[in-house]
Amino acid sequence: MIARYRIGFLIAALALAPACATSGASTSTGGAAAAPAAARAAAPASLPDKAELERLVAEAHAKFAGVADGKNANYIPALDEVPSHLFGVAIVTVNGDVITAGDSDYPFSIQSVSKPFTMAHVMNVEGYAAVQEKIGVEPTGLPFNSKIAIELLKARPVNPMVNAGALAAVSMVDAGSEKQRWQIVNANLEAFAGEKLKVLEDIYDSEYSTAFGNRAIANLLFNYERLYADPEETLRVYTRQCSVGVTAKQLGVMGATLANGGVNPVSGQRVLQEEIVPKVLAVMQTAGFYDESGRWTAEVGLPSKTGVGGGIVTVVPGQMAIVGFSPPLNEAGNSVRAQLAIKHIANALHASVFLPR
Ligand code: GLN
Repeated sequence: MIARYRIGFLIAALALAPACATSGASTSTGGAAAAPAAARAAAPASLPDKAELERLVAEAHAKFAGVADGKNANYIPALDEVPSHLFGVAIVTVNGDVITAGDSDYPFSIQSVSKPFTMAHVMNVEGYAAVQEKIGVEPTGLPFNSKIAIELLKARPVNPMVNAGALAAVSMVDAGSEKQRWQIVNANLEAFAGEKLKVLEDIYDSEYSTAFGNRAIANLLFNYERLYADPEETLRVYTRQCSVGVTAKQLGVMGATLANGGVNPVSGQRVLQEEIVPKVLAVMQTAGFYDESGRWTAEVGLPSKTGVGGGIVTVVPGQMAIVGFSPPLNEAGNSVRAQLAIKHIANALHASVFLPR
């Protein structure tokens, strides 16, 4: 695993090299024979113009709408029914500007994109150290539904971006009943969105009635004393959390709350203590794309979270959230068109957190 991430960062360095050589104005170091110093592709210090963001969102949507790769998730039968052509792109800035293209008002199931927000809530209430101790924050380098990861990494079994860690996070919510557990989880997601959100009941029924793998994970964790509430209750609340419907726009506001240091830029509400935000973003960076987190880090360099409903949220700290939504997924369960759109926008903005500032 260590080698895997070293390789990831090496690729990041190589990927940046051509941009360094070609972009921006170069400065001479003096003397006719001196080679011009390569200009550095620096990240912009301030929020780009709204007109530029509008242009990029429209461009990304138009450019990738015709991509036909990938397949809807079908292990949750209802997800296979969602029209594959749907494609929305959205940016929400820390000023509360909302910029969209395509199907950005279609409510899709948030699925695993909910995970960083529930983890954030647990860190906010219990502290970062409790999450690090009781769940773990190491990337597994394995698929989101891996059971082997639990066996391999028993001391700190998983991280809250994969199913096992997300179930553990739900079990850490301080609640006296299942009803209260759900109310806390839901209220937290709504605070990030700044709006009421609805559970997509058909998705919930479809997922809960086929959740044999997640039930196994919950029971395995409980067996190792790494689940902190009743396994079936935890499974139900987690599945409900994943079935919450969000639009690309709403997910953008959720992400922009993280970009904005924990204050929702639309409602003005502080949702998260400021010092928790970098912890949340770090876990998203290292594990938000599961076993593709190294590649995504190398190619885009921004904390992100994907879900099998086809949503991806990417956070540009201090500036904005970029969201893509489109149901067809690649092998790792990450939306194909959403990845392409976000990568296009992020790279055009030189938004990687690894670029000099
Ligand atoms: N609810 C889904 C599951 O538990 C979430 C997985 C995902 O979005 N990657 O399998």
